[in-house]
Amino acid sequence: SDLQISIGLQKSLLYEKVQKLSITDGLTKLFSHRYFKQRLEEELILANRYSSHLSLLILDIDHFKHYNDSYGHVAGDHVLMEVARILKEQSDQTHLVARYGGEEMVIIAPETTKEQGMELAEKIRKAVESYSFAVGKETTRVTVSIGVATFPQDSQTNLDLISKSDKALYAAKARGRNRIAAYPL
Ligand code: GH3
Ligand code: MG
Ligand code: MG
Repeated sequence: SDLQISIGLQKSLLYEKVQKLSITDGLTKLFSHRYFKQRLEEELILANRYSSHLSLLILDIDHFKHYNDSYGHVAGDHVLMEVARILKEQSDQTHLVARYGGEEMVIIAPETTKEQGMELAEKIRKAVESYSFAVGKETTRVTVSIGVATFPQDSQTNLDLISKSDKALYAAKARGRNRIAAYPL
């Protein structure tokens, strides 16, 4: 009957919605942390099979706590959405962009050497640096630091590759922020 069809349809729509929710971050519409982990594993298997490179970029917004304190969390959320959009603009179809944590985002770049990964990171850093984030009638600025690590030379496993790019990010922060750094340091 019509009723059964509509319940069945509702169920499949709900299923689709739940599936989509779990792979997408609500605020930024980037891929979720969970989906990122799953895809990194798969992409590393492919990179290994085809003896190709893969670069992992981890980005963190500089002094973001201070930004929230100065302009409020609503403005902070707006920055996260805009930075996410810039990341998608600067990356291509082969890249996977995800929200890693609060104000941290990641890019999986398959078939990308460390040199190329650093070029991408620098392009993103510059794009964010030169962007005007509107808060009411005011114009605000943010900068980002980015760490890069590359398969296979830096690491063979997904968790270790994340940890290596995180170490590079930490070095970029320590060197003064608004910069990129690649592993090894
Ligand atoms: P650093 O340059 O060392 O990265 O300094 P930081 O202030 O960015 O780093 P810290 O880890 O101390 O603070 C991160 C801040 O990011 C704290 C938190 O308020 C903010 N943040 C995390 N997630 C969100 C979010 O979803 N929305 C907003 N508005 N802020 C967030
Ligand atoms: Mg952080
Ligand atoms: Mg930060």
